[in-house]
Amino acid sequence: MTDFTTRAVFAALRRVLVAAFAVALAVHAQAQTPSAASQSAELKPKSRLRLLGSEVPPGTRKRLHWTSGAAIEGFASPAPVIVLNGRGPGPVLCLTAAVHGDELNGIEVVRRVLDDVDLEELNGAIIGVPIVNIQGFYRGTRYLPDRRDLNRHFPGNPKGSAATRMAHSFFTEVVRHCSALIDLHTGSLNRTNLPQVRANLNVPSVARLTQAFGATVVLHSVGDKGSLRRAATEAGIPSVTFEMGEPMRVQPEQVEHGAKAIETLMYSLGMTRQRRYWGDPEPVYYSSTWVRVDHGGILFSDVSLGERVSEGELLGVVTDPISNEQYRIYAPTSGRILGMALNQVVLPGFAAYRIGSETSQAKATKETEDEAPEDLVEDEPVE
Ligand SMILES: [Zn+2]
Repeated sequence: MTDFTTRAVFAALRRVLVAAFAVALAVHAQAQTPSAASQSAELKPKSRLRLLGSEVPPGTRKRLHWTSGAAIEGFASPAPVIVLNGRGPGPVLCLTAAVHGDELNGIEVVRRVLDDVDLEELNGAIIGVPIVNIQGFYRGTRYLPDRRDLNRHFPGNPKGSAATRMAHSFFTEVVRHCSALIDLHTGSLNRTNLPQVRANLNVPSVARLTQAFGATVVLHSVGDKGSLRRAATEAGIPSVTFEMGEPMRVQPEQVEHGAKAIETLMYSLGMTRQRRYWGDPEPVYYSSTWVRVDHGGILFSDVSLGERVSEGELLGVVTDPISNEQYRIYAPTSGRILGMALNQVVLPGFAAYRIGSETSQAKATKETEDEAPEDLVEDEPVE
């Protein structure tokens, strides 16, 4: 071997080692998320846990029930509230799902996270409400029986409509006990979302919370008025919405990502010792734009959720079933598909693809908020 090749081999080897070390450091830094760890101290610590007429002593798990009070008494269907109170000090993390009764992925995420926790090692407490809108869940709809959207009525009012009374009851009896809250959702009907955390990054404690979800996309939005996370954040409880997948289905990959991300957060907050690893630390802060179709017809997509696309790339084709005309939809910008419509019949103006561009946390908050397309039920782009 010549001196030159020996040097080249050593140089290559050094590069490999340096790269491996950098990856190890990045993974380590991500798992540690020191800012989130220090945040644990800034979240309100748990005190004696008394809620819904019961006391949950340290080291115990209890299944309680919340009844909204906005039903005919004889027909009231109480929603299970599962409380795990650890022995050690720490925050009270609340996990809520199915505020929209047809959004199923979150139900399984809550079940899995609660089941994975080792109560003996838990610091702080977890309050899990797998199905908040139990009546919507039974009927397979996102709405309440009066066709209102519960996620537009928080923090509620004890003297208002059925929806506001229900929101008020849930807010005072459950949410007030939380130090931080994660509200689980999915895309709206016939649309799907890459797992993504939506949060008001202008609130420092909320922004810090978003740093600990592993390799999960984070989108800035203040949140719709009346949404659980906005009302809770305004009440001083740092809250985020965690979107994943589509309604009416339970999707294993989405559920796995969701549970893993929440377990990563709990580890970062010092609540558990179960560390979860992410192979691929990715940039997580995004701003986004919606791409609408200009012609009606049947939409077939050429891209899939999470795919990275370049400006000018073909996203999908709309075919008019009568005239046989085809209309191609091209990406107006480069980025990543964070949300998209499933193949379906669409009308002109239908919002079909949400393309996200990587940005910094600071920049994400400066950009004006993406206007919610009117034809999107409020899951898009807020929740
Ligand atoms: Zn929802």
